[in-house]
Amino acid sequence: MEPQAADLRDLYQEVILDHGRRPRNRRTMETASVAAHGDNPMCGDRVTVFLRLDGDGQIADISFEGRGCAISMASASLMTELLKGRTRAEAEALFRGFRAMCTGAEAPEAPPEDALERLAVLSGVKDFPSRVKCATLAWHTMDAALAGHTETVTTE
Ligand code: ZN
Repeated sequence: MEPQAADLRDLYQEVILDHGRRPRNRRTMETASVAAHGDNPMCGDRVTVFLRLDGDGQIADISFEGRGCAISMASASLMTELLKGRTRAEAEALFRGFRAMCTGAEAPEAPPEDALERLAVLSGVKDFPSRVKCATLAWHTMDAALAGHTETVTTE
């Protein structure tokens, strides 16, 4: 049987709360190749994203540190789970796809589908513009880290 919209919302809520309460890969990384800070002053979310890249530009490890609302922490947590083992190009494609999903825009290209499906739990933010910043903060920060930017990423 197809799940009803209300059931899906409950499921999404459950995933967000679970990741918000018990974020995966929340730790500093001494051996990071790149790292960046992100700040969402509107909500008070702050994250630092750490990435360790191997010789081929693959993400060998990814973690984050920070504090913030359940959506920002759940998004950072899901991001670390989804990006580990992927290439930079895949990470960037997924970021663009996720950002499009959050803003209700068309994705510029087809991102890795399985991963985007798991991020659908956060797609409800598209109805709440201020929440889009919470959901995408860790991703903007990851993108800045990969690009080698060292100044703090701010959503303002
Ligand atoms: Zn927030």
